[in-house]
Amino acid sequence: MKFVYAFSEGNKDLKDLLGGKGANLAEMTRLGLPVPPGFTITTEACRAYLASGDEPAALRAEVSAHLDAMEQRMGKKLGEGRDPLLVSVRSGAKFSMPGMMDTVLNIGLSDVSVEALGACAGDERFAWDSYRRLIQMFGKTVLGIEGDLFEDRLEEAKRAAGAASDVDLTTPDLKQLVTDFKKIVREATGQDFPQEPREQMDLAIRAVFDSWNGSRARLYRRQERIPHDLGTAVNICAMVFGNLGPDSGSGVAFTRDPASGRQGVYGDYLANAQGEDVVAGIRNTVSLADLEQLDKTSYDQLLQIMETLETHYKDLCDIEFTIERGTLWMLQTRVGKRTAAAAFRIATQLVDQGLIDETEALHRVNGAQLAQLMFPHFDGEAEGDLLATGIAASPGAAVGVAVFDSEAAVRRAAAGEKVILVRRETNPDDLDGMIAAEGILTCRGGKTSHAAVVARGMGKTCVCGVEELDVDLKGRRITTGDGVVIEEGDTLSIDGTSGKVYRGEVPVVPSPVVEYFEGRIDPRAEPADDLVRAVHRLMSYADRVRRLRVRANADTGEDAARARRFGAQGIGLCRTEHMFLGDRRELVEHLVLAETDAEQSAALDALLPLQRADFQELLEAMDGLPVTVRLLDPPLHEFLPDLTELSVRVALTDSRQETEEKDTRLLHAVERLHEQNPMLGLRGVRLGLVIPGLFSMQVRALAEAAADRLAAGGDPRGEIMIPLVGTVQELEIVREDAERIIAEVEQARGVVLELTLGTMIELPRAALTAGQIAESADFFSFGTNDLTQTVWGFSRDDVEASFFAAYLEKGIFGTSPFETIDVDGVGALVRTAVRSGRATRPDLKLGVCGEHGGDPESVHFFHEVGLDYVSCSPFRIPVARLEAGRAAVARPPV
Ligand code: ADP
Ligand code: MG
Ligand code: MG
Repeated sequence: MKFVYAFSEGNKDLKDLLGGKGANLAEMTRLGLPVPPGFTITTEACRAYLASGDEPAALRAEVSAHLDAMEQRMGKKLGEGRDPLLVSVRSGAKFSMPGMMDTVLNIGLSDVSVEALGACAGDERFAWDSYRRLIQMFGKTVLGIEGDLFEDRLEEAKRAAGAASDVDLTTPDLKQLVTDFKKIVREATGQDFPQEPREQMDLAIRAVFDSWNGSRARLYRRQERIPHDLGTAVNICAMVFGNLGPDSGSGVAFTRDPASGRQGVYGDYLANAQGEDVVAGIRNTVSLADLEQLDKTSYDQLLQIMETLETHYKDLCDIEFTIERGTLWMLQTRVGKRTAAAAFRIATQLVDQGLIDETEALHRVNGAQLAQLMFPHFDGEAEGDLLATGIAASPGAAVGVAVFDSEAAVRRAAAGEKVILVRRETNPDDLDGMIAAEGILTCRGGKTSHAAVVARGMGKTCVCGVEELDVDLKGRRITTGDGVVIEEGDTLSIDGTSGKVYRGEVPVVPSPVVEYFEGRIDPRAEPADDLVRAVHRLMSYADRVRRLRVRANADTGEDAARARRFGAQGIGLCRTEHMFLGDRRELVEHLVLAETDAEQSAALDALLPLQRADFQELLEAMDGLPVTVRLLDPPLHEFLPDLTELSVRVALTDSRQETEEKDTRLLHAVERLHEQNPMLGLRGVRLGLVIPGLFSMQVRALAEAAADRLAAGGDPRGEIMIPLVGTVQELEIVREDAERIIAEVEQARGVVLELTLGTMIELPRAALTAGQIAESADFFSFGTNDLTQTVWGFSRDDVEASFFAAYLEKGIFGTSPFETIDVDGVGALVRTAVRSGRATRPDLKLGVCGEHGGDPESVHFFHEVGLDYVSCSPFRIPVARLEAGRAAVARPPV
C-alpha cells in the first residue's frame, strides 16, 4: 500500500484518497501551473492511524523519501542550512468540514533557522514575522493552546509599539513577540516549543489525523451523514512567501462572480501578507483588479491561469494564490460555492459557451436553490439600516414590530399588526407567538436550535444566533454592540436568507422567479432578466426529461388555478375538511347532535350542495387533469367547540339557571367524542364507517359535480381517496357503497362517469398488507406525513416543538424526517407497498401526497422507487418539477 503521493502523481478524481485539496493541487500540478512542490499523505494512512492509534510503520519512511526528493529538487533542507526549506502542513478531507484542524505555515523555523532565513532573504524582519506566526499557529492548532493568549499578546505588542497594524511591527518587536510566544507555550504545556524541524512536521501531521475525531468534526459528520471512517488527507507543501515586502502578497479569486455569475475579475489581494491574512480582515485588502497596477506580469499570468482552470473544470473555480517577489504561485483551487441566482446563470452560460451540455447543467442547480429564489427579498437598491448579522436559519424577508414574548406577539398580531418575535432562544412555550409572528429573531443558537427548526417547519423567516445583540427580555429592548437601542414596538426587518437584521422597514420586492411562474413575466420578452431566462431554460429541460408527474395539494379553485400556472398536472390531494369549517361548522354540529335518522339525513342534505359546488370549482380549474378528493379525515370534534370553553359556558349559564338545552347536548357530544390521542382515534375511514351517510354524501357530491361538469362540456377526472385505511375490509365496504352511489348518479343523469377509487397508504399495516389492499384500490397515494408519525411513533406537533432541536443537535438525524423522507425506515415501507401493490395490480397508479412530495431529496427517492407522481403544495411545484428532472438524468455520484 502506498501512503504518500507527490503532487505530480495525483489528479482531481482521487478525492477519496487525497482529499479535495490534495486532489486539486495534484491536478493543477499536472496542468503545468505553478504549484510549489509537495506531497499528500492519503486518507488511507489516516484510517490506519485512527484504527491502531499509531502511524503505520511504512508511513514514516515514505514521508522521508518524499521529503528527500523535495529537498533534492529545491536544493534546500527542511529547517537547515543557509537557505532552509519551510513547509505548510494542511488538512484536507474529501468534503470540506468545519472543525477539522487548521493549516500550520512556516514549519521548519527554529531559533537557528530563523537567522538563516533572514540572512538568505536579506530581510530579518520577514524571518521573525514568519517565526512568530509559526509559534502562534502551531501553539493553537497542534498544541491546543487557547488562541486568545497569542492574539492578546500581539495586540499588546502593537499597542506598545504604537503600530497601526502587524506590518508596522519592527524586527525587535517581533523578536520580543517570539520570546513571549515561546513563554506562552512553555506555560501552557510545560514544554518548550519544539526546535527540531522534522518533529514539528510529524506532530502537525498527527494533529491533523487526530482532528478527524474532534467533537465538532464528528457532530458535523453525523448531521451531514458523512461516514466517520473516511479519514482526512494531509498535504505538505513547500512554503512560498507573500510576506516578503511590498512586491509580495496573498490573494483569493473567483473565475466569475459567485454572487451574480457574471464573468470578470473578482477577488481580493493584500500586499505583504501571508496565508489567511487576506480574508482575516486584519488590514484593508485591495480588489483583484488593482493588482494590475501593482504587478502587471503576475496579474496577466493569473488571469490566464483562471481561464485555464475554468475551461478545465468546466465550472466556476475559487483559488488561493501568493506572489513572492514578483513570482506567482497557486496554492489551492476548487469548484467554488455560489449563490442560488449565480448557480442558474452560470449553468446556462456554460451551456452557451459549449463547456457543458444541458444534462450537466441540470446537475449544477438544485431545488433548494430554486426555492431560495422564490422567496420575496429585500430591495437590493434600498438602503437598510443594518444592525447586526446572525445565522440565516429560515429564508425569506420579514418586516414587523419587535415583541419580546409570545403573549405580546399573539395580542398585537390579532390586532392586525405585523410582528417580529424576539427571544434569546425559543422553547415550546413560544409556539403561539411564533405562529403569530412574521419572523423570528434570536440571539442564541444555530441552525438546529429550536427557533430554527420550528421556523423552517412553518416556513417562517428566522434569523438566529445574532450574538452582537443583547436581548433584554425584562426591559423589553435590544441593544446592539454600538449601543443602538430597539424598544418593543419599533420596526425591524430581518432577512432569513442572509442573516441580516435591519432597523426600520426595508421595502420587500416579490421574487421575479415567482412572477415568471405566475405568468406575469414572459421569459422571452424584455423585462425578464438573465436569471429568469436561465430558470426558464432549465425548467423546460427538466420538464422534457422527467418521468415523475407533479401534482398539487390544493383545496380551493383558487389554489388549483395557481398550482396549474406553476405547472401542476392535477391535484394529488384535496383535503375536504376545510369545507366543513367556517359557516358550515353549524351543519357539522347538527350532524353530530342528530338523534334520529331523519335529523341526520337533513344535516347531510344541507351539506351536499355546498360540497358539490366546491368540487365543481376544483374540477373546472383542473379540467382534463386528475383531481384526487380525500374524504373527510380529521376527527369530528375538531369541528366542534373546545371542550373547556364549552364547559365553562354551560357552567355559567347553569349557575344563572338559564341553561341552553342545545349547549348541554353539545357538551355531552363533545365529551363523548373527546379523545386522549386524536391522531390515532376515530378519524379517516373509521369515521366514514361509523357515521353512516357521511362518506356517501361526499361521494355523491363529487359524482354530481362531475356530471354537471360533463353537462357543461368539461372533462372531469375525479379520484376518490380513502384516508387511514389499515386493512382491505375497510376499503371494500366503502367501495361497495361508493359504486352504488356513482351508479345511481350515472343513471339519474344519463352519463358515464370516470371516477376511480383508491386509498392512502399511511399506516404501517396498510403498507405491509398492500398486496391485499390493492385488490380494492385503483391507486395508492402515500401519505408520508402520517406514515412518518406512525412509523416513528412521533406526534408531529408535539415532537417538533419539544425535542426535535435536541435530536438534531445530537446528530440523531441531520434533517427532520418530516422534511426529508426517512429512506431506511419509512422508505422501506413505501418500497414494500409499491412492490406488493403492483404485484396484485400491475396498472396500480402510485403517488405521494404530503410535503415530502416537494422536498428535493425525497423526490429522488420517489423517482427511484417508481412512483407515477408526487403531489405537494402549489408553491413547491417548481422545485418538484426541477428535482424530478434531475432524478431522471441522475448521474453516478462524484
Ligand atoms: P484552508 O483549508 O483553511 O483554506 P489552507 O491549507 O488552504 O487552509 O491554508 C491556509 C492559508 O495558508 C491559505 O491562505 C493558503 O493559501 C495558505 N498557504 C497554505 N500553504 C501555503 C504555502 N505552502 N505557502 C504559502 N501559503 C500557504
Ligand atoms: Mg485554503
Ligand atoms: Mg393522513
